[in-house]
Amino acid sequence: MKLKIDRNSIKFKTFLYFMVFAVTLMAALWILQVVLLNNFYGTMKTAQTKEVASEIERSFKHNESDRFLDKVSQISESYDMYIYVVSYDGKTTYYQPSASDVAQAPGFETDTSQETAPGEMQYASKIQTLNEHMMRGNGSAYVKIKGVDASQEILAYGSVLSAKNKDPMIVYIFSPLWPVSSTIKILTNQLIYVTIISIILAILISLYLSTRITRPIRKINTSAKSLAEGNYGIVFQGGHYTELVDLADTLTGASIELEKSDMMQKDLIANVSHDLKTPLTMIKSYAEMIRDLSGDNPEKRNEHLKVIIDEADRLNVLVNDLLAISRLQSGKLTLEKSEFNLTDTIDNVLKTYRIMELEEGYTFEFNGDTAYYVDADEEKIKQVITNLLTNAIKFCGEDKLIKITLKKRGKYVTCHVEDHGPGIAPEEIEHIWDRYYRSSSNMKREKEGTGLGLSICKEILTLHKARFGIDSILGEGSDFWFELECIKK
Ligand code: ADP
Repeated sequence: MKLKIDRNSIKFKTFLYFMVFAVTLMAALWILQVVLLNNFYGTMKTAQTKEVASEIERSFKHNESDRFLDKVSQISESYDMYIYVVSYDGKTTYYQPSASDVAQAPGFETDTSQETAPGEMQYASKIQTLNEHMMRGNGSAYVKIKGVDASQEILAYGSVLSAKNKDPMIVYIFSPLWPVSSTIKILTNQLIYVTIISIILAILISLYLSTRITRPIRKINTSAKSLAEGNYGIVFQGGHYTELVDLADTLTGASIELEKSDMMQKDLIANVSHDLKTPLTMIKSYAEMIRDLSGDNPEKRNEHLKVIIDEADRLNVLVNDLLAISRLQSGKLTLEKSEFNLTDTIDNVLKTYRIMELEEGYTFEFNGDTAYYVDADEEKIKQVITNLLTNAIKFCGEDKLIKITLKKRGKYVTCHVEDHGPGIAPEEIEHIWDRYYRSSSNMKREKEGTGLGLSICKEILTLHKARFGIDSILGEGSDFWFELECIKK
């Protein structure tokens, strides 16, 4: 069976990145420790020797002889170097490392059988060689010389120290280069272990990490598939990571919203079917009545025809609402702005309602004395006013009074539509503008609507970038308002 590897999976990518990281790190270590160690060591020793040499020179210039020799002894102790200070004629040695130190120095281990103080003897030949280099180099030299054992190397520095009012002296510094090959061998062995351990760790950590990340993602995916099949109310499980917990919470929220919207759509279909069915049944039965019974009786016929016309009007409103919301939803609706007098527009809308004052006892109070000009889509603003008025009529109180007020606020004009009806509970106010929302109360047929009127208002006002809102007290009435920018005329 061929193992299929998904190269784009988190598992594969995490594994790959960890491996690249581990391998790069190991390669860097190998190069630095094994390949470049020798160079590093040499460079470091050279720099150190030069630093010590200049420190000694500085000290000779600025210090008394005693303090200078103390300083040399201090330096000699703190560095892995062997320092000699001798008189200019080479006869007096002022400072030299202890014999035992020198005996241990690489390149000088042999020959301890010598009778003379080993230190003195070991370096005698080297000092001589160094002196020759110094003579060629104007009193100072910095050279790499061979130890007694030819495989050993020593950095040697020699210089004449001179200062005003002081007898000149000569300083010799021998800085042995310890053989690093054995160190490299040890490091190589250690690095093999470190490399193996790092690679195993990289594999384990990447597997652990990717599993911890992918497991919750897989779970979320399964839940999302189930949601897509229509199983709402699913609680998405996050993982150990904030981002995944957030994603799960967002999806859970989305699933709740989807459920709500689905329920609302179902409600709408139920409502719309009901709303369509009732007038259709009425139209059909009244038409049959005219055909069979009242066709010859003009009075009865007209009465029946009025019912048919009213019901047809009701159907018209419903279909118009549905068309408007579907256009708004599809985002196809654009504003056709023009400058118009809002006061006149409201007056015109109210004219169509005046008949209700005469026939049904409603009162429409409007403070339409001042002209307010706005730049907006007149037809759509008319629709907003109509929808608000329709609601105010539907939900007005016993007094059947509906107040329409225009108020100037700064550079804006606010239009209020008030009634003294049942009002809206505070917890319902925020849902009132939602599509298909209808408050749980007021389910009498004449108050039935599509639940679309206010959401149409919301879409239109949002398109105008206008502010709008409701102030309502339960049992006392509601005040629906919106605001448009005034223009000067
Ligand atoms: P509908 O066609 O059902 O009236 P709307 O979107 O116009 O749809 O209104 C949504 C709901 O808001 C209504 O069902 C009603 O419960 C509530 N509502 C709207 N206007 C008023 C009002 N003036 N007073 C009290 N409740 C109102």
